[in-house]
Amino acid sequence: MIKLLIVGAGISGLALARRLTNTNVKVTIIERDTNFPIGGAGICLPPNAVIQMKRFGLYDRLLKASHHVNYLDYAKSNGTPIASASLLEAPLNKAEFVVVRRQALLELLQYNMSQTVCFGSQVTKMANSEAGVFVHVNHSSRPEFFDLVVAADGTQSTTRQLAIKNSKARALGVTNWRFVVEHVEQEINPIQLLGDDHAFMIYPLSATTSYCYAQIADPFNQWRHLPPVPTLHTLFSHYCEPVKKMLRAINDTTRVFAGSLETVNLSNTFELRTVLIGDALHGCPPNLLQGAAMGLEDANLLADLITRFPVDDALQMYNEERLPRVRWVMDEAIRQNEILMKSKSWPGRLIRNTLLRQNGPAEVAAWRKLLLDTQDLPEQTP
Ligand SMILES: Cc1cc2nc3c(=O)[nH]c(=O)nc-3n(C[C@H](O)[C@H](O)[C@H](O)COP(=O)(O)OP(=O)(O)OC[C@H]3O[C@@H](n4cnc5c(N)ncnc54)[C@H](O)[C@@H]3O)c2cc1C
Repeated sequence: MIKLLIVGAGISGLALARRLTNTNVKVTIIERDTNFPIGGAGICLPPNAVIQMKRFGLYDRLLKASHHVNYLDYAKSNGTPIASASLLEAPLNKAEFVVVRRQALLELLQYNMSQTVCFGSQVTKMANSEAGVFVHVNHSSRPEFFDLVVAADGTQSTTRQLAIKNSKARALGVTNWRFVVEHVEQEINPIQLLGDDHAFMIYPLSATTSYCYAQIADPFNQWRHLPPVPTLHTLFSHYCEPVKKMLRAINDTTRVFAGSLETVNLSNTFELRTVLIGDALHGCPPNLLQGAAMGLEDANLLADLITRFPVDDALQMYNEERLPRVRWVMDEAIRQNEILMKSKSWPGRLIRNTLLRQNGPAEVAAWRKLLLDTQDLPEQTP
């Protein structure tokens, strides 16, 4: 029996714990927060993420809990269309593109799962070796031995930094805001509205609810620590409808989450007996909407490998299969984010808009490539 510790009960950690239920792996999962994190707004799940959800036996439940859309539009901040894409064509039609509340996705991943999470727990010290890992957790005076530790603790992963020197996340100089608003009924296609070095994205969660994501280039953290709601009004009130409508819909109960974009730069997916999944491995800008998708792919692959092969072989195989795909997504997401954020000058905007008109929405082009490389996977019962 393999003894495995998962650090972090976010989307990736829960997904892995779920896949390892009733296997030859004894899982402990710890979470720094004292309960499931309530933070977060919406999560976009492109077709490759929905394919992964089938592996968890959660496909039907996901479709019930989420909003399914078939088109994506890009426009200038004044509403002039730039590009659009239909998701009804192959290979994009391998599965749906859905938008779901983050909270609902976390609940889905826990559906019918017997594994309990140890809340309020975090790793304080680790001795990582070829044989396994001695782990000190904050509320325990003695270290515990695990055959394998999985860092699923997000972009700023402490576990990664304890296992790998100089692996701190790097700031990209972009401030972002996420929130969900209720509005009067209006069917909205997902749309990205592009300003100079700022952008506002709307993804419908239902006919009357939308997940909004806004960002601005902010190399000196000029906007990051200002009160979010007035800042959103200052930066985006000159945008056309439907952004104005979303801003008007913000009320006292709307939770607006502000953050900074960060990325990690790793040459391996594991170090000795500590392996990385999710944002701990590939935190990057959300331009390709691949954050959750990549975490779900990591979890499914790692679960398949460690239940079938000796741990060291499984880690090598995980590295060989995962690293090229993860690297490609990160490089492409960073490149697309740079194109968006270098549009303060008119030549920058001209390049950005020409690329979009020629190639269509960048995330859709990326999904096509990722889907062509995705195997059809057997569905499981929940
Ligand atoms: C609070 C929150 C809100 C988010 N909101 C959105 C959103 O609205 N839209 C969107 O697209 N993406 C959002 N994201 C990011 C998105 O969830 C991830 O990009 C993606 O789903 C990958 O998930 P992950 O599980 O790898 O990492 P994360 O979602 O970051 O989960 C990591 C988990 O590890 C826990 N953790 C961190 N450090 C430690 C530690 N030292 N010890 C133990 N546990 C630790 C965290 O509390 C968290 O539960 C959010 C992330 C977080 C943490």
